[in-house]
Amino acid sequence: MSKDYSSYISDTAHQLQPSGIRKFFDLAAGMKGVISLGVGEPDFITPWNIREATLLSIEEGFTSYTANAGLLELREEISIYLQKRFAVNYDPKNQIIVTVGASQALDLAFRAIINPGDEVLIVEPAFVSYAPLVFMAGGRPIAISTSPENDFKVTAEQIENAITEKTKAILLCSPNNPTGSTLNKAELTEIAKIVEKYDLIMVSDEIYAELTYDETFTSFAAIEGMYDRTILINGFSKGFAMTGWRLGFIAAPAELVQVMLKIHQYTVMCAPHMLQLGAIEALRNTYDEVENMKRSYLRRRNYMVQRLNQIGLDCHTPGGAFYVFPSIRATGLSSEQFAEELLIQEKVAVVPGNVFGESGEGYIRCSYATSMEQLQEALKRIQRFIETKGIYGKQ
Ligand code: PMP
Repeated sequence: MSKDYSSYISDTAHQLQPSGIRKFFDLAAGMKGVISLGVGEPDFITPWNIREATLLSIEEGFTSYTANAGLLELREEISIYLQKRFAVNYDPKNQIIVTVGASQALDLAFRAIINPGDEVLIVEPAFVSYAPLVFMAGGRPIAISTSPENDFKVTAEQIENAITEKTKAILLCSPNNPTGSTLNKAELTEIAKIVEKYDLIMVSDEIYAELTYDETFTSFAAIEGMYDRTILINGFSKGFAMTGWRLGFIAAPAELVQVMLKIHQYTVMCAPHMLQLGAIEALRNTYDEVENMKRSYLRRRNYMVQRLNQIGLDCHTPGGAFYVFPSIRATGLSSEQFAEELLIQEKVAVVPGNVFGESGEGYIRCSYATSMEQLQEALKRIQRFIETKGIYGKQ
């Protein structure tokens, strides 16, 4: 008989639920001919100049640890990038940490600020890692629901209504995963007033900043009065097509950075040396390629929104990222039923909206970071699925 390990497992680990996204990937992995609109990553390979710089750095023997906060040269490039692109000034020496993806940056932020029972407001539908990360840091994730009536945008009033004396921070992600919803400067300014009024910290996940289509991206740290209250999180995964490199960064007030750096040095020591050298090249010489990728996503976004609405799945126009979040309410199916039946009958993988929080029920997330041909075929199949099931137009 195999050993029973349950008494060894920590209560925290025990309470964590597996991500709802995995289940669908496991199901799809065993099937042939599946078109996946499920994954949240670019379909582009990392631009060649970045790969080449990394290969050369390995050849030249850059294989040691770096400073805990990352190579100073990379932090300097990040500082220049943040200043040029988003008009925010950070001192590379004591305000920036290079992390293992935006994922680790989020983990550092929560561990640095949360005491047991502190509440963190999370705007839902939300990236699946947020609530578990807050929970693992000892905090309580508090969901605020958004809906397509307001383009999945959270309002300052909604935030204010969710605040208690335990509220420590707000986590905002704009452009958002999974809805693509993007807050403009005026909307962020309204939210900033609440952050100020209740003396909160903003953890601003700006990982999709480069993929903002209809308006200029505004960093939360650039809003008046917010620089001292913002932990800015960004990285290379999405805009630079570098998901597998696991490189992100934090920019924040020096005092907070020192605390996060302590945690970082004991947990991961530093991000990989040769990959950091690739990231320097990414920031110096990839501007055109990033723009080209963005243009390509924009074409695909427009196609997806138009086709989904045409076949009867209401879809708002997301301002950024590479996801659309259409309603499947008219079909009368739950999000899980829709995703499962679509996968089995038509071999199209999408993510049921409920995995992103309760307010995601009634929606599906489709990533359009796949070729136009695949998208066209996927949409044909989704249309056939709706028509052959005779569920079109049901309430
Ligand atoms: N934040 C959001 C909103 C994301 O969608 C993702 C990746 N899916 C991340 C953070 C994590 O990014 P990274 O690959 O840099 O860890």
